[in-house]
Amino acid sequence: MDRDPPIQKTCGASVPVPPAPHLTPGQQAVLAALQQQPQPISAQALHGVIRGQRSIGLATVYRALELLKLLGLVQHRVTLTGETLYSAVEQDHHYLTCLQCGVSVPVDSCLVQELAARLQGTSSFRIYYHTLEFFGVCEGCEG
Ligand SMILES: [Zn+2]
Ligand SMILES: [Zn+2]
Repeated sequence: MDRDPPIQKTCGASVPVPPAPHLTPGQQAVLAALQQQPQPISAQALHGVIRGQRSIGLATVYRALELLKLLGLVQHRVTLTGETLYSAVEQDHHYLTCLQCGVSVPVDSCLVQELAARLQGTSSFRIYYHTLEFFGVCEGCEG
């Protein structure tokens, strides 16, 4: 990947969320591990990552993810196969997803950030994150 950097950078990447003081060590570990993932990851895979460093149960990982979601620190997306993938909210990635083979390709830019900021300013809603996904057929499946 030696292409020129996109003008519109992946939004939010420069705003790291400081660890919330009221999180338990287990919840902190889940959040920290998630922030290190370059791609959204399933709870089971994340469990595998954390288990390499500390003793933690899969149920604890699930509970921590649910809590972190409510705190606006974690978001999730559901793949075509029904798998739930989690990511830290500052990793604002969007995807092109193939309806035939299910492959997901990240999109470099996010044009929704401006809209989100405007909504945040004009509504009484506190916005944690947004989702945007494009569906179609990939090059390999089209041929
Ligand atoms: Zn495909
Ligand atoms: Zn975005």
